[in-house]
Amino acid sequence: MKPNKWISSAQADELLKKQLVTWSLPKKNYDDLQQVQTRQLDLGGITVQVQHNPARIASTGAKTDGQSIRQRQCFLCADNLPAEQIRLPFGYNYDVLCNPYPIFREHFTIVSRKHENQEIAKRLPDFLELAYRMNRHTVFYNGPRSGASAPDHAHFQAVTRGQMPIEKELHDLPNRYAKEILSLEYGKLFALTHYFRNGFVIEASDKKTISLLFHLIYKVLDKKPDEPEPGMNLFASYDENQWRLILIPRHKHRPWQYDATGEDHILSSPGAADIGGLFITPREEDFMKINPHIIQNIYEQVGYADDEILKLTDQIVAKHKSNNKL
Ligand SMILES: [Zn+2]
Repeated sequence: MKPNKWISSAQADELLKKQLVTWSLPKKNYDDLQQVQTRQLDLGGITVQVQHNPARIASTGAKTDGQSIRQRQCFLCADNLPAEQIRLPFGYNYDVLCNPYPIFREHFTIVSRKHENQEIAKRLPDFLELAYRMNRHTVFYNGPRSGASAPDHAHFQAVTRGQMPIEKELHDLPNRYAKEILSLEYGKLFALTHYFRNGFVIEASDKKTISLLFHLIYKVLDKKPDEPEPGMNLFASYDENQWRLILIPRHKHRPWQYDATGEDHILSSPGAADIGGLFITPREEDFMKINPHIIQNIYEQVGYADDEILKLTDQIVAKHKSNNKL
């Protein structure tokens, strides 16, 4: 018999249920999540839900510079996982794990079986396959300098669909934030502006089209010389026979408030969830003082401005035209 190597949303939910019985750490943290304090903020029609999640303090505060990473034991390598952690295969190269420190009611980490760097270009087909297989969930990716707490070990996350405000706000396109910039036979590309986390959305019914449009964007993004890829957060879902990929490019890993002392300090290392409008504050004082102005400021620091997206859009459209002339 062939092993059942293709995960589904139902199998992942089953895994989580099992772990809540067999492992006390996630049991406590998923129970606590039900009582977690939240605040809803309004950024001129854009919603941000702030979540006070003390269990996330270690991962948000984790040092992710090269030296600290080399000195610590990798917590995603199979040999270092807690004995209670059950691994469910996704294809031949990944395992699905329940995340014992959840932000979402269902929160999974999909981990490469090999200790290899977080790098999206060669793993995009796997990421899209995961979105297709776990089609009741939303999957996301944090670049190595865009919120990933393990930049040295390739991983994706899969979470409860619809818990991030970005999913609702960008549900029907085009809209006031998303303008169509390219239309191909099997897919479309939209540019996102005036959204504070500006970027791009790809909708396509085949993987090839998604990949083509993704690489058009990837090539024009700013890449820092000491970083392996342009900064970004990706969200993917599969619904009604098509993929949707949201790409939010990033300039910075962390806002200046992260390194500030005293009143100005905010423990925030924005990853996809924060960018998606589910903003995590592990410290209570940050949860209390955070306001629309601070969140907007953080988004503006780590993301791209409207005019930068418009400039990239021109480059993408020109590149696409010249590719098709060849
Ligand atoms: Zn590892």
